[in-house]
Amino acid sequence: MDWNSLQEADRKFVWHPFTSAAADGGADPVIVVEGEGVWLRDSQGRSYLDGNASIWCNLHGHRHPRLDAALRAQAAKIAHSSFLGLGNEPAALLARALVETLRGEPPLGFPPEIQRSRIPARVFYSDNGSCANEIAAKMAVQYFRNTGRPERTGLVAFEGGYHGDTMLNVSLGGIGVFGEPYRALALKLTIVSDIGGLREHLWHHGDTVAAVFLESALGGAGGIHPHRPGFMKEVADLTARAGALLVVDEVLAGFGRTGTFLGCYHDGVCPDFITLSKGLTAGYLPLAVTLAREEVYQSFAGDYYSGRILYHGHTYTGNPLACAVALENLKMFREENIMAQVASKIPAFEKGIRAFEGVKSVREVRSIGLIGGIELEQRRSRGDLARAACLAARQHGVLTRPLGNTIVVMPPLCISLEHLAQLFDGIRAGILQTAVG
Ligand SMILES: *Cc1c(COP(=O)(O)O)cnc(C)c1O
Repeated sequence: MDWNSLQEADRKFVWHPFTSAAADGGADPVIVVEGEGVWLRDSQGRSYLDGNASIWCNLHGHRHPRLDAALRAQAAKIAHSSFLGLGNEPAALLARALVETLRGEPPLGFPPEIQRSRIPARVFYSDNGSCANEIAAKMAVQYFRNTGRPERTGLVAFEGGYHGDTMLNVSLGGIGVFGEPYRALALKLTIVSDIGGLREHLWHHGDTVAAVFLESALGGAGGIHPHRPGFMKEVADLTARAGALLVVDEVLAGFGRTGTFLGCYHDGVCPDFITLSKGLTAGYLPLAVTLAREEVYQSFAGDYYSGRILYHGHTYTGNPLACAVALENLKMFREENIMAQVASKIPAFEKGIRAFEGVKSVREVRSIGLIGGIELEQRRSRGDLARAACLAARQHGVLTRPLGNTIVVMPPLCISLEHLAQLFDGIRAGILQTAVG
């Protein structure tokens, strides 16, 4: 396929997410045609390191032989069938494997101090992280209705947090710019600014709250801000004391990226709901899960018109292709000891990120596990410098994206130390090329 006609098709007919209609990439859009390992290749034959893990979801690299084989094997059986009242092979096996992984021994399972019976172990499938969170909200509110506490309808989330893009999610989200254009449609949820705000809200209104939403381990889309140690535990304790349910959004942090299999392990927190998506299929296919506690599930026993049914389900719920790849991904975590490999790379990653301190126009650097943020000075209009630096980094063989004025460094977990060094070099070159005054 020649580049000109691909570019024209893209320019003329495609509307890209989180991207200005006034062409984001300048005159030279990157149209990806192939991937292998940590590399992406575009339609002009240029290669780039995937410094953004294909928007934070790729774990083991592109075209991984094991994942490709799992996908092919399932395609040879069936691609899709309905999940409404029916089951399918990979979805059943994946649900069991996921729960066994969480109940298992460390390093993959919950820390030993957590009661096994409290671990959410009912798996509800959907297609993306936004939906997984929205479903948790519906489950929480309906659970209280099912159990005779219909006044508990409140949902609480943190300022600067991100839980997705549907109307419920942008109402929960504390990133102003993402929700502002849709304010007229927004749901009336409570956004608290910090732990003090949560304490105060729960003190006054705790008995009307159904659930508290918390991004696990870090604020991701808000600009890569790791939580301080103990923060998640404090949120969990306050939520439990108020009798509300805790939804920990592991969509980004889940599957090892922060150095533990789930981000909430950093604080030994056991939530009532866990949502997972980005790493679930190792970056291959759209799939998400909402894990709920058994007690919540059991309250949903009623006939179809009783109001005790979770009235939610998408056409592609439990998609067999996606579930088959996710199952293979979980097997890889166990058989290839992925968490040990991640742990062995974190010191080099931290060192690489820290080395940006003192680089011209760098204001602050932050990291947790294999997730890094390099915040630049705010010299020009908002985000301009970071965007320019990311575009410049392309010339040095690196693809990544800024969040406001912060450059995200989030390679696939499988990246070698050599490629990691190359990634940091490319970003540094991009920054220096665009640094002002
Ligand atoms: C990406 C993300 C979401 C939304 O997931 P989508 O699959 O993009 O809908 C939700 N929460 C967090 C923490 C995320 O990083």
